[in-house]
Amino acid sequence: MSKISELPFFESLVLEAGALNQVAPFLVKHGSKRLVLAADGNTYEAAGRDLELMLREAGLEVTLCLLEPAGTGDVVADEAAIVQLLLAIEPGLTDALIAAGSGTIHDIVRFAGHRSGIPFISVPTAPSVDGFTSAGAPLIIRGIKKTVPAVPPTAIFADLNILMKAPQSLVAAGFGDMLGKYTSLFDWKFSRLTAGEPYNEQAALITERALNSCVKHAREIGQRTEEGITVLMTALIESGIAMLLFGQSHPASGAEHHLSHYWEMEFLRRGHRALLHGAKVGVACAEISRLYHAAADSGMYPAGEPEALRQHGEQVRAWLADVPSEAEIRELLRQAGGPSSLEELGIDGELFTRSLNEAHIVRMNRHTLLRALNEA
Ligand SMILES: [Zn+2]
Repeated sequence: MSKISELPFFESLVLEAGALNQVAPFLVKHGSKRLVLAADGNTYEAAGRDLELMLREAGLEVTLCLLEPAGTGDVVADEAAIVQLLLAIEPGLTDALIAAGSGTIHDIVRFAGHRSGIPFISVPTAPSVDGFTSAGAPLIIRGIKKTVPAVPPTAIFADLNILMKAPQSLVAAGFGDMLGKYTSLFDWKFSRLTAGEPYNEQAALITERALNSCVKHAREIGQRTEEGITVLMTALIESGIAMLLFGQSHPASGAEHHLSHYWEMEFLRRGHRALLHGAKVGVACAEISRLYHAAADSGMYPAGEPEALRQHGEQVRAWLADVPSEAEIRELLRQAGGPSSLEELGIDGELFTRSLNEAHIVRMNRHTLLRALNEA
């Protein structure tokens, strides 16, 4: 981890067995006295309970905020959860927040911390998403998903002993979020060439390296070995750092994320229980790969041939050579133990077709080949 921990984003970045033991000494060293520890029922059992005890033993005053699930049974980063956490914060007294748990818990804490001017510490309980280190908080406000500027954590303590016990579905979701970089990196290059979107070589390189190391260790990740989980969590943190470095989500989010966001909003509208972010992204990546290869290699266009493909076909096909086929991506998803098809996710044909036609509208400020195919 020395490589990424040298980047100047965090005061401390620890990924190792027993990292949880370092949280209290870090806070004491920084003069912290009163904390709010945010978790949910599951993550409190996984890490929160032990952490709470260690913090109290170190003489810190801890207010526990056990975030309540929404009607669908999941904790959601919505108005109710944000207010629940804000009520636990004592203005002028609380000097640090701790997010012990999932990406969603992190988003609630990073937003509340940002708005109350209190730094937060990240204690991830599963390698499930690359958003732990993110500056933006995707929130659900009045049923609509909206990413709001917030802050990254001051420090991250990722304990391998905890991460290795995470359910396989969450591990596979983290792997799916990383596989999505195949199409996000392609879309980024495509949008730079055809729409002049900003680009950063270093951020692209960090993301690509993180993706490749995950793919190389797909089996170990599927078996949740120490090596596999270390590789995956490192990659997720690195992908997050690439976004911080660039200042936007381009390196890590392209058409596959737009499909995933579209499905998420539709599930919310229907009142269905949310699917894991990375599970959706992994399957969406396979679908986007199928569509892109068909368009560029076989000339199968949903509408007509986009001008960008007519003009830059050779370059686009060269970049697409780095994107594995639909079948290869599904096989990798299976190796990691996650869903690999729309059927397994429960995305019906009507929703899928509609999302292919409309997902680019979710992020109208972002160019992708999906958008070019729709606008041809
Ligand atoms: Zn993602």
